[in-house]
Amino acid sequence: MKPPYDLAVIGAGILGLAHAYTAAKAGKRVVVIDRDPRANGASIRNFGFITVTGQERGESWRLSRRTRDIWAKVAHQAGIAIEQRGLLLTVRRPEAVTAAEEFLTSEMGEGCELLTAAELRSNHPEIAAPDTLGALYSPHELRVESRLALPKLVSLLQAAHNVTFLTNTAVHSVAPPRIETARGPVEAEAAIVCPGDDFATLFPERIAAYQPQRSRISMLRLASPGFRLPAAVMSDLSLVRYRGYAAQPAATALRARLDIEQSLHLDHGVHLIAVQSADDTLVVGDSHHYADLPPPFAPAEAEDCILDEFHRATGITPPPVIERWVGTYASAETTFFIDAPSDAVRLVMVTSGTGASTSFGIAEKTIAGLYGAPAGVTS
Ligand SMILES: Cc1cc2nc3c(=O)[nH]c(=O)nc-3n(C[C@H](O)[C@H](O)[C@H](O)COP(=O)(O)OP(=O)(O)OC[C@H]3O[C@@H](n4cnc5c(N)ncnc54)[C@H](O)[C@@H]3O)c2cc1C
Repeated sequence: MKPPYDLAVIGAGILGLAHAYTAAKAGKRVVVIDRDPRANGASIRNFGFITVTGQERGESWRLSRRTRDIWAKVAHQAGIAIEQRGLLLTVRRPEAVTAAEEFLTSEMGEGCELLTAAELRSNHPEIAAPDTLGALYSPHELRVESRLALPKLVSLLQAAHNVTFLTNTAVHSVAPPRIETARGPVEAEAAIVCPGDDFATLFPERIAAYQPQRSRISMLRLASPGFRLPAAVMSDLSLVRYRGYAAQPAATALRARLDIEQSLHLDHGVHLIAVQSADDTLVVGDSHHYADLPPPFAPAEAEDCILDEFHRATGITPPPVIERWVGTYASAETTFFIDAPSDAVRLVMVTSGTGASTSFGIAEKTIAGLYGAPAGVTS
């Protein structure tokens, strides 16, 4: 007898939901299983910043463009608000200007432009710091409020795509057609495991082969500054962190200068992302501390560095902090991987802190491989 589901997706974070969406659209009967009542990890703690510009050149960049397009469609269907569009990466060192110019000459610069200091001051005076040299503008980004968006995505999957959700249900083993859970077996012909940064429960040896660590991120919500940001805002420090920028030759000189001028920020893995919510409050971050198990104790010094960079990059005195949280994500050399423990199972992990920006594209690749290609596919 045919199992009741074609596909079991383990994990209801954005990566699991993207796979459920893609498979259900392809006509599969899908069940999503998560140990928590709802997503509570990286997928709702993030900026909701769906970033194209700055993603690693090649596949990640292409997948992020595809993911952005699917987000736009899904947001419309699910009633998810697009809170912001575009990116202004402010630059205040000549090396940063050169890195931005180099970026613009690559295929990834398509549609982007470098605003001079005068143009930034005249078009966006609210974010022109005194020593700004201009800003790299990208029209490609979207921003959603993830803590609101994910529940709406779940509702869309249930209502429009007939996806079943088994929550409060930990999965112990995956060997289709049998999935063993804490609430008894679930039967499905195939399974896709999207465990976030749980490296220990399912296929630990296969995950270990990618040598992942966890990155702990500090995040802040600031009171409204009293105006709308024209776009998401980043700064010089982002040019040495995001792989698409950091690969530009001038980023090496910028890094050398930052090592001298902002070494404390670099020690805490700080760069700037500032985005804005519907109520005008700002979500600002972030810092990166890496370990196999980062302790939950986030240093106040890292928070000070984030606020300092916000001030330096925008000229805005940071409004009061009204919320703080930390999140963790899987981090490795690769940006993501799709591993195949067997013909009927895929193990998928985003290992570069970019899951909101690449999940739907990755999901299309996984589903195409699962229903077309043999086991052993790894990206
Ligand atoms: C603070 C922060 C800010 C970020 N900002 C951005 C951003 O703006 N843009 C961007 O693109 N990316 C961002 N990222 C990265 C992005 O959020 C992650 O890459 C993405 O959320 C990973 O999604 P996921 O579904 O793989 O993992 P998760 O969201 O961690 O979900 C995994 C799920 O699997 C479940 N699970 C695991 N094992 C089992 C099991 N055995 N049985 C049952 N359930 C199980 C867990 O309960 C969990 O719900 C950020 C990350 C953090 C932490």
